[in-house]
Amino acid sequence: MKLFAIFGDPVAHSRSPLMHNHVFNSLGFKGCYTRVHLKDGSKLKETFFALGLSGANITVPHKEAAYKACDEIRGFAGKVGVVNTIVNENGRLIGYNTDADGFIYAIKPFGKINSVLVLGAGGTSKALSTRFKDEGMKVTVLNRSAGRLEEFKAHGFNTATWDSIEIKPYDLIVNTTSAGLEDDNLPAPIEILKPLLQQASFSADAIYGKETPFLKLSKELGITTKDGADMLLGQGVLANNFFTEGLYDLEAIEHYMKESFLF
Ligand code: NDP
Repeated sequence: MKLFAIFGDPVAHSRSPLMHNHVFNSLGFKGCYTRVHLKDGSKLKETFFALGLSGANITVPHKEAAYKACDEIRGFAGKVGVVNTIVNENGRLIGYNTDADGFIYAIKPFGKINSVLVLGAGGTSKALSTRFKDEGMKVTVLNRSAGRLEEFKAHGFNTATWDSIEIKPYDLIVNTTSAGLEDDNLPAPIEILKPLLQQASFSADAIYGKETPFLKLSKELGITTKDGADMLLGQGVLANNFFTEGLYDLEAIEHYMKESFLF
């Protein structure tokens, strides 16, 4: 029996044990997934080995600490310095980031996306915008204030604030702001957002567990949407694939993980 865990502070709310255990049980994989409330991120490595884990997920606020704890970083995690999945390979900790890849996986049904408008310029925007660019998409980042856009500009992104945004068609508009999380705010004024959405094909929101004003407006305008649960699902499917060492099809993992969302 292999043991896995999610590390976080807080961690009690995490759906990951439910998601991964249901996949393990349904596919007949001898694994068990639990949660570990870790206050001190610097203790991640010793706790991982003390518990005899085969793998782990890491959530707030330890994703940077997880990056530092790994012996080797693979793929996109190296680009953003953030790790959310660790696999124990013969006593060496291998770090991955499945958050942004999970989002790419989640929007696959949208087909080829050439241009994307990302609302917000925080941590989630940084990871997703970078990943979108890697996929060859033309990325524009729109933020309420100019400060955080400087870093994006320096990395070659098109950027705009509410005053300077050009209203034109984008294939996809993604909300990575926290507007709508604990309030009823749209991520940009309606005079800007409505014409942008009217010309867009798809929209997606990083927030999950509720229908945000952004998604509500998108649906009213007849746009196909994805919410943050799809992103959560996407990162979980890819992490589970690492834990089960590629034994099962991604589609089978997705099927059972999605099923766990009904519990
Ligand atoms: P950050 O704090 O790093 O960034 C927040 C961004 O939101 C900033 O660009 C900020 O703009 C903008 N913002 C905040 N409030 C408003 C508002 N009222 N109107 C317009 N813009 C606003 O946050 P994160 O990147 O860490 O997280 C963003 C969201 O993504 C959260 O809601 C989080 O829950 C969600 N998330 C979901 C995941 C999933 O698996 N589904 C994974 C990770 C995150 P400014 O610079 O002007 O302040």
